[in-house]
Amino acid sequence: MTEPNTLFLRLEGALQAWGDTSKMVIRRTMEAPTKSGVLGLLCCALGISRDRARQELARLRMIRMGVRTDRPGIRWWDYHTVGAGTGMTTAGGKTGPQGTLITRREYLADASFLVALQAEDRALVDELAHALQQPKWPVFLGRRCCPPARPVYAGVDEFPDLEAALQSPPWCPRFAEDVPRDEDNAPCRTIALDCLLEYSPQAGQAAPPDAEVWYDTPVFFNPPVHEPRLVLRKRITVAVGQALQRRLPAPPRPRADYQNTEYKKRREARLVADQGLCVFCKNPATTVQHVTYRQAGGNETPDDLRSLCRLCHDAVTMIEYGLGMGLDRIDPCEARWRDAILRTRGEIIAFRSEEGRRRALRSAPTQVRRDLLEEEAS
Ligand SMILES: [Zn+2]
Repeated sequence: MTEPNTLFLRLEGALQAWGDTSKMVIRRTMEAPTKSGVLGLLCCALGISRDRARQELARLRMIRMGVRTDRPGIRWWDYHTVGAGTGMTTAGGKTGPQGTLITRREYLADASFLVALQAEDRALVDELAHALQQPKWPVFLGRRCCPPARPVYAGVDEFPDLEAALQSPPWCPRFAEDVPRDEDNAPCRTIALDCLLEYSPQAGQAAPPDAEVWYDTPVFFNPPVHEPRLVLRKRITVAVGQALQRRLPAPPRPRADYQNTEYKKRREARLVADQGLCVFCKNPATTVQHVTYRQAGGNETPDDLRSLCRLCHDAVTMIEYGLGMGLDRIDPCEARWRDAILRTRGEIIAFRSEEGRRRALRSAPTQVRRDLLEEEAS
């Protein structure tokens, strides 16, 4: 049996960035993967360095590329600095080793693309399929800081052209709710998706008038040199497949009505029962903490509340932060939280004390922090 002529890639991740020709302070992304970016990804999988790519690209360039936009993503900017240690002039006019330059980098957030690569050289398709399944170096979605969220290899098959290839795999929504509805409010069985198809001019044939020129076929990576190619935009109809994930219910949101008079009474009763002392450290209590919000809003039982001092309250809240807790919260009386609360209290004290803050600032002496220290000293 002959090897298939088409290789599929699934390019999906939190962020991707398919650089256009902008090379300076503002770096934008194209709307979809570029040929340069995809061939770069294949070179990573093959373990081919930028310098060695000079020879290899002659072979890889012959591959035709089609892209189907399964989810376009949203454009997003990143705050980014470069140039640490290069002695650039700072905003203050000084030249120092800390000099940095602020750059702007654009990303596509939460996008998903299906890429079809087609070649007459079937052995090459086979070689790339193997490399993607066992990449020599980590692959990334255009920029090194953009790892894929799913395996990039998405199968091989035989197709007469790129359009037929991109029509074949169904469009799988992340959640069943993402499937568009028809006039009768039934989930659609097909969906129209935007595609970018590489157009290979045949001898004696003129390119269609609506063909776009993309300067993204790499000749060298180091220094970057690109050749133009022709790209046709087409909207194709694809079958809707199974949803990839089931949506989990969001955790219930804790709520308390602090103005509620009934709650105020219960809060007072709790403080009296605790003799006005923090249940954790026995300093004077300044606040009452919910250990559960299940009956919040005036129906709390005394056992739903704990009196706390400001410091223990802040420590408990800091620990809770990021734990994704639902209605049930940290009970500071439980032994299992003891060490975490003590440690966090210690961190808060260290940071709130003058000397502690100085020590924290000194341990990471960036220019900004040093300016803060000087400000404090004067
Ligand atoms: Zn306390």
